[in-house]
Amino acid sequence: APETKTGRLIGTVLRAQSGFFWVLTEQGLLECRLRGRLKKERQATDLVVIGDQVEVVLVGYGQGAIEAVLPRRSQLARRAAGSRGAYKEDVIVANVDQVLLVFACAKPEFTPRMLDRYLVICEHSELPAIIVATKIDLVGREVAESLFRPYEQIGYPVVYTSIISGEGIADLRDRLIGKISVVTGKSGVGKSSLLNAIQPGLNLRTGEVSERLTKGRHTTTVAELIPLTMPGGGYVADTPGIREIGLWKLPARDLAWCFREFRPFLRDCYFAGCTHLHEPDCAVRAAVERGEITPERYDSYVRLMNSDEEG
Ligand code: GDP
Ligand code: ZN
Repeated sequence: APETKTGRLIGTVLRAQSGFFWVLTEQGLLECRLRGRLKKERQATDLVVIGDQVEVVLVGYGQGAIEAVLPRRSQLARRAAGSRGAYKEDVIVANVDQVLLVFACAKPEFTPRMLDRYLVICEHSELPAIIVATKIDLVGREVAESLFRPYEQIGYPVVYTSIISGEGIADLRDRLIGKISVVTGKSGVGKSSLLNAIQPGLNLRTGEVSERLTKGRHTTTVAELIPLTMPGGGYVADTPGIREIGLWKLPARDLAWCFREFRPFLRDCYFAGCTHLHEPDCAVRAAVERGEITPERYDSYVRLMNSDEEG
């Protein structure tokens, strides 16, 4: 029910900035602040983020107070350095249904290494990933499919798109309906063009370019959920690039799990704490030798294991 017994409304947080929240409710868009009580209950940083479902009471015309936050079904977090060398997680978007990883077939050149890093972030956050291959008109469908086939083979959905031919646009639109989607990919891969083809005017403003432009100035990056106007609705999250989330150093056990095709082999290594780098009788390396794991994916794993910091 949209309205609870106590006269509270349930709404979705679309925007959060400097203590103000825009909450979309049955009564329209409300500008809300947090009840003091709520502030004390939880840590200030992740108290309420975009995508959260909240209970609101009206306190004035178009204004409300957030009384409670409903449990999240998922979240996308950035791991930041905390005190005494520990990490803390900053939640960026709550209740994310899927992450669209946008990669061009050409211009700029496809970089599987970067895709593998993004996929690790998705797996670690337990968020479904959809790979979106753009600009297929530049290389032709056959070449496009050969680039992304290894990812289809390990179970990731790939949508092949071109704003020139219009291929894949309807498919992608269908996949966005009724969901909260995070869209990411480096500058120039065609994110804006794609979103505009899906819904004219739909645009992400906080790409890498705007991040660069605002660097140095004291601009708060505003994260926002952009409502989809098509039947069935849905939201696209306009967030700082997933790149900014970065890839913190994961222990071998966690990192290997994030390479989903490694999973069937992880229990068969001779050593329980196998890092799959140089131990004898490693089931992962044996699978690479048998061709059941591609050398490229294994190489991405090795690089991530050997790096101290990844962005
Ligand atoms: P963004 O930085 O990821 O938002 O990328 P843009 O949407 O701004 O696109 C970058 C460039 O790629 C622009 O010049 C677009 O016209 C071009 N582009 C985008 N999609 C396609 C496509 O499907 N085919 C071709 N040939 N060019 C595209
Ligand atoms: Zn191993």
